[in-house]
Amino acid sequence: MPVFRHSKALRTELEKSSGASVGFVPTMGFLHDGHLSLIEKAASENDTVVVSIFVNPTQFNNSEDLEKYPRDVAGDIEKIHRKYANTLIFIPETEDLYPNGASFEKIDFQGLDQVMEGRFRPGHFQGVGAVVQILFDIVRPNLAYFGEKDFQQLLIIKYLTAYLKLPIRIIGCPTLREPNGLAMSSRNERLSPAARLQAGLIYDTLSQAKDWFRTMPAEAVKSLVNQAFERHPAFHPEYVEIADEQTLKPVRKASDGRCRLFVAVFIEHVRLIDNILLN
Ligand code: AMP
Repeated sequence: MPVFRHSKALRTELEKSSGASVGFVPTMGFLHDGHLSLIEKAASENDTVVVSIFVNPTQFNNSEDLEKYPRDVAGDIEKIHRKYANTLIFIPETEDLYPNGASFEKIDFQGLDQVMEGRFRPGHFQGVGAVVQILFDIVRPNLAYFGEKDFQQLLIIKYLTAYLKLPIRIIGCPTLREPNGLAMSSRNERLSPAARLQAGLIYDTLSQAKDWFRTMPAEAVKSLVNQAFERHPAFHPEYVEIADEQTLKPVRKASDGRCRLFVAVFIEHVRLIDNILLN
């Protein structure tokens, strides 16, 4: 299957098989098994699968992070086609997606974009919302697949789809982890081998927190999680939050409803995020 570098060419191809169900997996590339698990699910549920690879500049509030974002387009194409030969791969240029420059309409996400990732990466979710809207408009999928690793993003995409009344089902997919529990991420490549091993502490701590939360209020659990990270000089937590799974509002205790623990931690200047369902 060819790789599509232009949205028009991809549209032409998709229109050849109108009526087929289309599953869409948007990515920023440098693919790992977490991404491939989304493609696997999309392939099992749709006639046609589209995977996009695009490092979206409008969602980076830090130009160094954008520049350092790992890229390996040839490797990505190989990984996808080795297992999923019929996948349509879309690798657009920035000008194709943003013909009028980086300006786009802002969406009121009802505060979902103001906490956690949104608080520490101002404008990030407006950029995510913009690119996903543009990509949805090109691909027009029936189903679109997003990882729970970026749980706040998943909620925001669900909100966006409902707000725009798009006929697209958003499917959340579980987080794939390295053998030590570290959530797979393209950013893990930037860690030294020793730090990558040590970073297993993030998931160990999240798992422990699940136990703590059975008997302790949220504030106490958050303190213990912070302490667990701060005991290690290499770990620099940015936030530790316990929030409702739907509203992302802070939760005080387990009986307040289904909630998750969310963390962002810097290790060797690499920003890692993870979350776990607590109850
Ligand atoms: P990214 O390339 O980081 O933008 O990720 C593309 C998609 O893959 C997003 O929906 C992510 O949530 C998802 N994803 C990233 N890492 C994982 C993982 N470890 N397990 C499952 N899905 C993931």
